[in-house]
This record gives sequence, C-alpha cells and structure tokens, in this order.
Amino acid sequence: MTEQQPMHELDDETLFLVSQTFKALCDPTRIRILHLLSQKECSVNEIASKLDLKQSTVSHQLRFLKNLRLVKYKREKTTYYYSPDDQHVMNLLAQTIEHAQHH
Ligand SMILES: [Zn+2]
Repeated sequence: MTEQQPMHELDDETLFLVSQTFKALCDPTRIRILHLLSQKECSVNEIASKLDLKQSTVSHQLRFLKNLRLVKYKREKTTYYYSPDDQHVMNLLAQTIEHAQHH
C-alpha cells in the first residue's frame, strides 16, 4: 500500500469567510458599488447619483460590505468617503468582470 498524502481540508472559519465573500459578490448592486469604488473613492451621495440608486440602498449595501471589511471609509467633516479595503477581493472582482467580457 502506498503512503497517501493527507488531504488538505479547509477549516470551518475559512469556509465561512469564502462563502461570505462570494455572497458579497453575488448581488448586482454590490458589484456596481465595488466596481465604482475600484475606480474612485466616493461619498454615499456620489455613489447614489452615479449609479442612480437610493441613498438608503447605498447605505445598506455599504454597511454590508463594511462588515465584511471589503470597504473602508474616511471622514471629512460630515462626509464619509468610501474606498475598497481588500485587494484580493477587488482582484477577484476584476478577474470575474474580465471573464464575463472575454467572449
Ligand atoms: Zn474566463
């Protein structure tokens, strides 16, 4: 009998985080927001007007993305400016957009 390499298994925390990441990218509105932020740091107002979304929708989605640490913000006076906070996931998004468009 040959010695078998032990299979490398993903631990539960990794599995959870990977599926959460795909869940984050599973929504067209969140994809549009992340794609916009990959090009330019934006306030909630700017995101809402550029993407023609309600501010409440944008705020809700930004909270979701912030909880997963996919976006971060900086505050200037009363305005919050959002930008991407994870290059892996932004690369993943860019790759997936490229995949969708390479036909
Ligand atoms: Zn492809």
